[in-house]
Amino acid sequence: MLTLPDIIDSVKRSQCKPDEEELRSLPYKNAFIYGRVSSPAQVRDSRESIREIAELLRLAKEDGYQSDLQPDKVEQWLQDIQKDIADKVVWQQGQITLDVRDLGLSARFPGDDRQGFSHLLESIERGQTGAVYVSEASRLTRDQTYIEAYKLLELFKKHGIRVRTPYYVKNPQIPRDWDYLQEELQYAIKEGKALDRRLNHRRRTKAERGEYVGEPIPAGFILPVLERESSGQYKFSKMQPYPPHVEVVIRILSEFVKQGGSVLKTHRALGRLTYPYFPENVSYMERRSALRTATKTESGYLVSPTMTRSLATNLKLIGIWTWGNIEPISNNHAAIVPVDLFLEAYNLATRPGKPRGKSISREPLEWHRLVYCCNHDIPVRMSSNTTRGGAYRCEADYVQGRGPACLDITARYLDEPLTKTVLRQLDFTPLAEDVLMQSEAAGAQAELEMEQRKREIARLENKLENLKPYLGCGDNKREEVYWHLYERTKEHLDELRSRPLPGRAPDRADYHLVRDFLVGLPRKFDTYPRALRNRLLRCIIDRVEIRHAGQDVDATVYWKTGQVQELSIRRARAKKNRESRWSDEELTILQMLWPSSSQDAILAALPGRTWKAVAHQANSHRWKRSYSSKGTVVKRRWKADEEQRTKQLYESGTPLQEITSEMKRSRTAILQKASENGWQRPHPEQGRATTDFWSEKESPIVSNGSTSGRGYRG
Ligand SMILES: [Zn+2]
Repeated sequence: MLTLPDIIDSVKRSQCKPDEEELRSLPYKNAFIYGRVSSPAQVRDSRESIREIAELLRLAKEDGYQSDLQPDKVEQWLQDIQKDIADKVVWQQGQITLDVRDLGLSARFPGDDRQGFSHLLESIERGQTGAVYVSEASRLTRDQTYIEAYKLLELFKKHGIRVRTPYYVKNPQIPRDWDYLQEELQYAIKEGKALDRRLNHRRRTKAERGEYVGEPIPAGFILPVLERESSGQYKFSKMQPYPPHVEVVIRILSEFVKQGGSVLKTHRALGRLTYPYFPENVSYMERRSALRTATKTESGYLVSPTMTRSLATNLKLIGIWTWGNIEPISNNHAAIVPVDLFLEAYNLATRPGKPRGKSISREPLEWHRLVYCCNHDIPVRMSSNTTRGGAYRCEADYVQGRGPACLDITARYLDEPLTKTVLRQLDFTPLAEDVLMQSEAAGAQAELEMEQRKREIARLENKLENLKPYLGCGDNKREEVYWHLYERTKEHLDELRSRPLPGRAPDRADYHLVRDFLVGLPRKFDTYPRALRNRLLRCIIDRVEIRHAGQDVDATVYWKTGQVQELSIRRARAKKNRESRWSDEELTILQMLWPSSSQDAILAALPGRTWKAVAHQANSHRWKRSYSSKGTVVKRRWKADEEQRTKQLYESGTPLQEITSEMKRSRTAILQKASENGWQRPHPEQGRATTDFWSEKESPIVSNGSTSGRGYRG
């Protein structure tokens, strides 16, 4: 006969699986008491929470954990922590660990910043801790993403951790307990979010009243203390001017206006101006002032250029309160800067930037970023200058625009021979053929495989269909064989079906296109934009090393494939490489015409020369010019046939000396006649173009051996 207690007991037992009781049993391994109260203020204010931690210690001892830790002593210590006269520590004695290092830390810190929390996880992972004592499960985490909560429960589950509060024991290994704990943690997270909203709301309300809400206080102001709470927290009233700093702010803004809004000039003028440090009685401003990020010098906070602009645009300087998106409040506090000065500075600081001139996007030089000057211990990448036709320049010795450039070479003197050399080597035909054939073959192979696979799949499917009718044949032995066969076939089929499909091979037409492109590339190279040519070269060329001495430039081209090519380039006179030299004939003409010919006549006699260049030449030879536009010399008239003959001689390029002797006219007369009639003489520089500037030799190709060492010309 069962008594009532027996019946109740058996009902209880049937509700609760016996292993659940086992899973919640205490003591299990060691106990870890985790103490944490939400905010620093709570540590100071909440006596109750502190007492709760001591209470947990009592609970653990009651649960059967052995330790010499005394709840009363711990409570006393905790109270000392509260009063800030004791350090937060870890007590570890016997089977109980009590870690209160996270007291006052928000549970929103990631685990790494919470020493106590990390300690807890570690001791669980090491298998030492079997029960975690907390006043509420929510004390463990308030991670807003739920991720930490979930991870924590997983860890607890893995190690069979009992979560012990004054009200319950839970073990996440039991599904019901998992749900319970998860709900509690989620609730805490939601609560945390609600708290955030409340806090924000409170801040906003305060800000709307023009009160300090924790943002940095601009230079020139301090926050007067209204009262100091027992917790040690300050209560501030609205911002007030701080005269020692006001002076500095006014000096900065006045200088800023004086310098027309140039921050740089302002700071040059101000030198090392500083804000004096806050004295002891307002030392709390050190953390609250915007100056806290300024460089600290012996005499105070150094005035920085970045701060100037923010001062010039900070409306708080003239008593207007702004915060977030709330409406600005005028006359919220005393202004520290005259409104006129502020407005002037404000306008200067916010005016749109000066027009920066026409921005021209220039294409990079053909060998941009590829050319290195090796006349130094460490190769120096040569800069490319895209103005005036472009030039490569080694600025190794060219410090801050001073000192001679190591090498300054007109771009085309490098580009043309380098590109020619590379392009000649860039015969894709055999290589491309290899690659394309391989690719085509692979494509064909893949197609074949695909075809075979399809056929195999069809065969297996067919086999399965054929096996089906045999599966219910009644003969057990045979049926077993069929089943076996069926399953193996099915396995094979599944495997075939799950194999990745080979990538689609390009069409034949694509191969033709690529082949044509590669083969035609060297021919069409010049027709591509320079930027594209540069990109292409940078794909295939690693670098070009330049070694130069006087007019000789040796270039070594390193291909990414490992190939090396060398070539020599001879420049014209190093100094005049940017402009064509004056020929002796040109100089003779100029010397003759300069003293008494008109500008037009001189320019006509020297095709391709600018007046500036002409004047420069003449002046550099100190030739005097006494030309006046009023002609005073009586001229002998030109006869038509005389003129015709002279023109013929002149335009055919006959030396002037011969013309003068044949025509019995002075050089001046002939040249003047030529210029008046616009006769053109063949330019002495014409046809010289590039070929004179470098003579090329090419060393045999050093590596790879796959290419020939033909001469450069060709
Ligand atoms: Zn150099």
